[in-house]
Amino acid sequence: MARAFIGFGGNIGDTRQIITDAIICLAQRRELQILAKSCFYQSAPLQATGGDYINAVIEIETELSPYGLLHVCQAVEQEFGRERPYANAPRTIDLDILSFEGISQEDTKLTLPHPRIIERSFVLLPLLEIAPDFFLPKLGELKAYLPQVADQRIEKLACRNCSCGEKAVSSQSAH
Ligand code: ADP
Ligand code: MG
Repeated sequence: MARAFIGFGGNIGDTRQIITDAIICLAQRRELQILAKSCFYQSAPLQATGGDYINAVIEIETELSPYGLLHVCQAVEQEFGRERPYANAPRTIDLDILSFEGISQEDTKLTLPHPRIIERSFVLLPLLEIAPDFFLPKLGELKAYLPQVADQRIEKLACRNCSCGEKAVSSQSAH
């Protein structure tokens, strides 16, 4: 079994509901188990157009290969109406494989870990929420990269079932 992290993002429609439904959709698959889910975060578009994004990260355990998991992620994107009119276009939902075990590879079809994992507050904050000491062989401890994304606007949203995130937190004060 491999451990992987998947990042979700979107800015068209009721993204919180769409991500929730997409996670339920993944949870129903026998080939993977969801180990943890972050709260939702609202972030400013980064090198992209449209309104604010909603983001979240999950940790999974899976018997799928990395490409098998990519296929599943792309099927879920299709199911929830993902269209790609141009690069970085607004989207109903985006699923990115952030890491898959300690695999490091540069295939354009599947780059691991995700090439922009350490450059985005909307990836780092939810990921570190569920895996505070997350470490990748070539990158080291991911929390070390938080200061570099401190200027990217992001707010942790209150979870429906707990009180975490009731106060807005910035990438500087979250960890
Ligand atoms: P982006 O996520 O960069 O906004 P897309 O979701 O349209 O853009 O993905 C573009 C391509 O990125 C996909 O065809 C996919 O094969 C490739 N890709 C490369 N590495 C990854 C990864 N780690 N997770 C998901 N897709 C990836
Ligand atoms: Mg993507």
